[in-house]
Amino acid sequence: MRSRYSAYAVKNAEYIYKTYANYKQKENTIIDILQWAEQTHWLKLNINDSSHTAIDNFNPQVLPTVIFDAYYLHQQQLYKMSECSRFVIEQNQWRYLDGNIFEHIKLNHPKRNDTCFCSSGKKFKKCCAKTIKPLMVLLQQSLVPNSTMHRH
Ligand SMILES: [Zn+2]
Repeated sequence: MRSRYSAYAVKNAEYIYKTYANYKQKENTIIDILQWAEQTHWLKLNINDSSHTAIDNFNPQVLPTVIFDAYYLHQQQLYKMSECSRFVIEQNQWRYLDGNIFEHIKLNHPKRNDTCFCSSGKKFKKCCAKTIKPLMVLLQQSLVPNSTMHRH
């Protein structure tokens, strides 16, 4: 799970694709994953519960699950997504089978001194603001047409 999350963070769509279970690979192309990952900036992942299973003890009747909250920025809007994912073993490797998203909401942009949305207990300015601020600057710059291009 964590390795898939860091793959999103570095936008490694090919890795994401390869760690999808076979049937998932049929409904997601690498291009789709890449396009979505390009516009999505992951801020925080909180794993709430996971049933750990060693690969040797894998029982297909009882698929291991991971319940997590993920926080991300998409087109300057903050989101929280809560999901319960199921994993299978294929080719001796854990792969993402499917996920049940039980909450997917827009979050209001907090003020500097508000408690951060990611449930760290810290103030926003001392927490996710550190990640979001530089991203917002980059996003705003990329929305402004490059004036030097039309100078000559
Ligand atoms: Zn935070």
